[in-house]
Amino acid sequence: MIFTIASGKGGTGKTTIAASLALSLAAEQSPPPLFLDCDVEAPNAHLFLHPGLDEQQDVAMLIPSVDEARCTHCGRCAEVCQYHAIAVLGQKTLVFPQLCHGCGSCTALCPEKAITEIPDRMGVVERGPAIAGISFARGVLDVGEPMAVPIIRHLKKWAPALPGQVVIRDTPPGTSCPVVESMRGSDFLLLVTEPTPFGLHDLRLAVQVGREMGIPSGVIINRENGSYPALEGFCSENNLLVLLRIPFERVIAEGVAQGKTLVEIHPEYKVTLWEMFLKIRD
Ligand code: SF4
Ligand code: SF4
Repeated sequence: MIFTIASGKGGTGKTTIAASLALSLAAEQSPPPLFLDCDVEAPNAHLFLHPGLDEQQDVAMLIPSVDEARCTHCGRCAEVCQYHAIAVLGQKTLVFPQLCHGCGSCTALCPEKAITEIPDRMGVVERGPAIAGISFARGVLDVGEPMAVPIIRHLKKWAPALPGQVVIRDTPPGTSCPVVESMRGSDFLLLVTEPTPFGLHDLRLAVQVGREMGIPSGVIINRENGSYPALEGFCSENNLLVLLRIPFERVIAEGVAQGKTLVEIHPEYKVTLWEMFLKIRD
């Protein structure tokens, strides 16, 4: 079973909850879960789960390189590139690696076989055992690289689950392409929100994306501090089950700031999260 923990908004406590869920499952299940940190632009789940990242693999994209001696500047490559990553300007054929998606169409369709593909590193994937026997893997996008999706896609393939192993994916914030790629193939979305207008606004977007992808979802309200009728109304109108409510507490905020998970701050959440998991699974 693949759980994806998402939140339209950053800073909702998504990673803390994802790491806490992993620890709760690790206490109850064998094998312990596989945790994938898909927030490749700013991975931070390692701060909570302390993995030994002893295996690494570079992630590269194949970028076209044009042999000007063979190129007739016919323009076919520019015509087929839907990302405008290759252009013919007079007697020059230019490649813009930052726009290239490595689809290979230009190479395949060049009539003069003037294009070869060269690997261009975009980032790295890393994995290793974390606390409580959790299998941990993450992707890290190199600084200045614009495309997170290929790293996330690579991470999902590179770190497969063992038979019967639950997968927990921690997504980037927002609802853009990296989030969609992190959600793809999931069985359930846990949408973490907070009872504020911003939280509700971004929850609406996340729910919409989940629905469009046909993935069932439930809500966790974090930092609850009294009732927020607009959020309750939205959840009931959209048949969204509120699976967990975590109160706004100074002791939780301080613990998280020190790199502690919810289950380390309040051990009773181990049982609460396990029961939530069983409810979703069943
Ligand atoms: S398709 Fe090949 S020959 Fe034509 S412009 Fe592009 S690189 Fe040159
Ligand atoms: S590999 Fe694909 S995206 Fe990149 S330049 Fe060629 S056609 Fe465009």
